[in-house]
Amino acid sequence: MDDGINELLPGMRRLGLGKRRVTATDLTYGAGYTESAGDVRSFPPTGMPARNAYQLIHDALKFDGDPTLNCATFLTTWMEPEAEKLIVENLGKNRVDIDEYEQTERIHRRCLAHLHDLWNGKRGQEPTGTVVVGSSEGIMLGGLALKWRWRERRQREGKDASRPNIVFAANAQVALEKTARYFDMEARLVPVSEQSRFCLDIERAAQMVDENTVGMFVILGSTYTGHYENVRAMSDRLARLQRDTGLDVEIHVDGASGAFVAPFAQPTLEWDFRVPRVASISTSGHKFGLTYPGIGWVLWRAPECLPAGLTFELSYLGGVEKTFTLNFSHPACFLIAQYYQFLRYGRTGYGRIMNACMLHARLLSVALEATGIYACVSDIHRPRGTLGYSEETRLAASDLFAETVAAGEGKSGADPAVNLEFNDGLPEVAFCFTEWFRQKHPGASQAVVSTLLRVRGWIVPNYPLPPDTADIEVMRVVIKEASSEDYVNRLVRDLLWATKTMLDTGVKPLSSALDQPLASSASTSDLAHEIAGSNRSTMSDGEKHSHWKGLLQRIGELRDTQRPEQPKMELLDNGGRKSFYQKTC
Ligand SMILES: *Cc1c(COP(=O)(O)O)cnc(C)c1O
Repeated sequence: MDDGINELLPGMRRLGLGKRRVTATDLTYGAGYTESAGDVRSFPPTGMPARNAYQLIHDALKFDGDPTLNCATFLTTWMEPEAEKLIVENLGKNRVDIDEYEQTERIHRRCLAHLHDLWNGKRGQEPTGTVVVGSSEGIMLGGLALKWRWRERRQREGKDASRPNIVFAANAQVALEKTARYFDMEARLVPVSEQSRFCLDIERAAQMVDENTVGMFVILGSTYTGHYENVRAMSDRLARLQRDTGLDVEIHVDGASGAFVAPFAQPTLEWDFRVPRVASISTSGHKFGLTYPGIGWVLWRAPECLPAGLTFELSYLGGVEKTFTLNFSHPACFLIAQYYQFLRYGRTGYGRIMNACMLHARLLSVALEATGIYACVSDIHRPRGTLGYSEETRLAASDLFAETVAAGEGKSGADPAVNLEFNDGLPEVAFCFTEWFRQKHPGASQAVVSTLLRVRGWIVPNYPLPPDTADIEVMRVVIKEASSEDYVNRLVRDLLWATKTMLDTGVKPLSSALDQPLASSASTSDLAHEIAGSNRSTMSDGEKHSHWKGLLQRIGELRDTQRPEQPKMELLDNGGRKSFYQKTC
């Protein structure tokens, strides 16, 4: 833990947190309840007035980035006031108490039915699924169900079931690797390449399947670049594999983002329960489900896809309850907010929002490429079937974009037909310097541009692509409901400002400095030492002690003269214990 300046000033502890009786003037900010570094390790010994606690935390959080300008996140950063009202009204409810909160449970069932319908589950069939905290929990449950079914099959056949593996591509989000590791499965990572557009290579994946493969994760919407992996083609390939080898392998779709984008923006794309080998689907309600974190969903194609052993029947508070989540208790308010979004927007509303996101993401892509400085690794702005950046594809993309915008003039944004002309994918723009720019400015660094953008408040991450393609670094912008045309305009302008500033300030020194980012583990005193080296004046512990004692005494005197009504302060030497500074009332 970084103790902040306390490391530099080891004698100083507890500059005043909660040491005094509350007086009327204490209810103002800065009345002495500051968060002293010495206090962060121990549980607060006393409380403080609500107003001070609020202000302290409120102000500390100002150092967080602004969610609205956080281009990195896929998560919902804005909801309507009515949704927020429902959230606040239901903050104290536990989703799992279905007897006490019957109506909340009805909402839960309705949401599951809506998603079963949205993902083309079998008509007339009761949905099998549950609300979860986020996609990670959904992915783990989906992975577990695959593993249990594989194990049951192996045991029935009298075969060894001790070495399960699960196959997915190297562009996987960490939740997939966690699932493999936490539940003792070998993660078989399918290498990605530029040809596979940095995501699942169907043929290589099929080659990695064997009799110990419990199933596959297929990702609808790669976090790295927004590309959709081809669920239909993977399912067809697995069907052929079964004909050739007898291996029967099913798919869990990680639709964290895509399961709420594709049904509205690319409704003809078959990736869901229409595809025979899709056993289960998970998604994040808090991404393009348009709800604040944390909420997610997991649904199975049919009850038989969820092994009975994973379900617990509890007689709980007067009823029988089936549960198959990892966590028991769970906030009800976000489930309620999710239902609000379903009711509020419906298919047309979600359609309008997703199509606007696609449009703005394409606008950003085309604008970036028009600069000559940036090339997109994502493909959503390119004519269907055209992949990768070149001068030719740049022109083709910008021509088609201009055409579709002109043709769409005055039309409602709800028509997804225009998306059919472009490649499928998430409204996410992943981009990097063009080859030309790199050659002209050999030291240019995207990391520096990313850092300079922070000056303007923007959070645009820069990160390497998945293993095997990690020599390419990309910057990423996720376009969300709140990312308007004006937002895109300002982002492009500020990005160019940052790029110019990088060039003006001399690329090399700054970039090599920023190549060593501040590790979160780097302590304040390490930093001071690194900068000042051995020139930094060093004090012995005794010197520090008397130095700080003297200083604090002076502060104390100053306070006493300024606020004569305050109780007198005394310095106590607690027999060598470090908290030698204390006030007595
Ligand atoms: C965000 C994301 C996850 C994890 O989702 P959480 O809701 O944050 O748990 C998993 N997979 C993909 C592809 C994601 O984008």
